[in-house]
Amino acid sequence: MIFNQINIKSPSREVLLDISKDIDLLVKKSGFKEGVCLIFVPHTTAGILINENADPAVKKDILKYLKELIPESYGFSHLEGNSDAHIKSSLIGHSVSVLIHEGKLLLGTWQGIMFAEFDGPRNRKIFVQIIGE
Ligand code: ZN
Repeated sequence: MIFNQINIKSPSREVLLDISKDIDLLVKKSGFKEGVCLIFVPHTTAGILINENADPAVKKDILKYLKELIPESYGFSHLEGNSDAHIKSSLIGHSVSVLIHEGKLLLGTWQGIMFAEFDGPRNRKIFVQIIGE
């Protein structure tokens, strides 16, 4: 079992950042041929998801739709003023797990692992636990 931490600085209030290559590198470094990689985001206004990384318009559309669904100016009670980000984070979720097979992440052809920022720019942490043999 190998624990890793990735530190990133999100560049704007809302952004999806493809971190597939970083995770790929950690899996290669682990030397495991078979296993599972769990990626966890320890933040209440960020998340992690797997979706298409081929057409950048998909990332844009996901953010656009969430923004329309959960407007920042809705009139929430939370005094910090970022309830929209808390809700988006809750909907997207805080962890994904990906199988490792023959030394590689078993992602689909069009899938990428994306860190989702909803209240940046901020310094963020991503925890990656790799279990395998
Ligand atoms: Zn808050």
